[in-house]
Amino acid sequence: MKTILIEPRGFCFGVRRALALLEKALPQKPYVLHEIVHNKVIIDFFKEKGACFVEDLSEVPDGSTVVFSAHGVGKEIESLAAQKKLRVIDTTCPFVKKVHAHVEQLEKEDYHILLIGKKGHAEVIGTLGRLSSETSVFVIEKKEDIPQKLDKVGVAMQTTLSQDETDVLLKRIQQLYPNAILENGICFATTERQTAVKNCSCPTVLVVGDTHSSNAKRLVEVAKASGKKAYLIETPADLRGLNLQEPIGITAAASAPESMVQAVYQILSDMS
Ligand code: SF4
Repeated sequence: MKTILIEPRGFCFGVRRALALLEKALPQKPYVLHEIVHNKVIIDFFKEKGACFVEDLSEVPDGSTVVFSAHGVGKEIESLAAQKKLRVIDTTCPFVKKVHAHVEQLEKEDYHILLIGKKGHAEVIGTLGRLSSETSVFVIEKKEDIPQKLDKVGVAMQTTLSQDETDVLLKRIQQLYPNAILENGICFATTERQTAVKNCSCPTVLVVGDTHSSNAKRLVEVAKASGKKAYLIETPADLRGLNLQEPIGITAAASAPESMVQAVYQILSDMS
């Protein structure tokens, strides 16, 4: 089948950095708080090399090494790590740190904060955790979540959102709050991958990535919104039974390994 590899795709700067830091920490038998990135293949690879993935800091023995994921953590986690005398390797992506700095500044200046993002996503939890419990903050997923009649509003956002969907929310926020402070937190790796998918001329787009990956799901949505058929592929087994129209475009989430992309590409290329 005629198959095209869409560029750019796959590992972004932040994921490469996080994985390199974890790799370097392996001799210390590190504990990793949450998934280092949302991809099972990568998690399994590091488990085999001796990293131990935990969901709560209480599972980490005092004095050991802990790795914070690329999604970032809240201040409480940092304090707890200090109390437990953990050696911290913080792989939070610098673009996520920029969002943290932005919300902390808004908090300092007494703004109500509208955080556009997916409720319950690790990055959103980490960003909320940078703020005191007294801060007025609203997580905005859809137009109905936008509160009305606030006096001083600042907007921040998750780094891996769809730019087009976020623009709809931003427009509504600006209608309600023309003086709102805005900072576009969607990172360039996310937008350039979405733009490449939108602009490709393939009727079918396959997004290689994990079902837990926010940016994988956004790539599927972006492809569908631009009139293409789109499927999320975790492994080549997911190709079974799909209605594929050629040429097929393949992209990959920022956390998806290129080896998986090549496996999918090879199978499709060999199909008559
Ligand atoms: S998707 Fe963007 S914010 Fe997230 S790790 Fe990659 S570069 Fe950083």
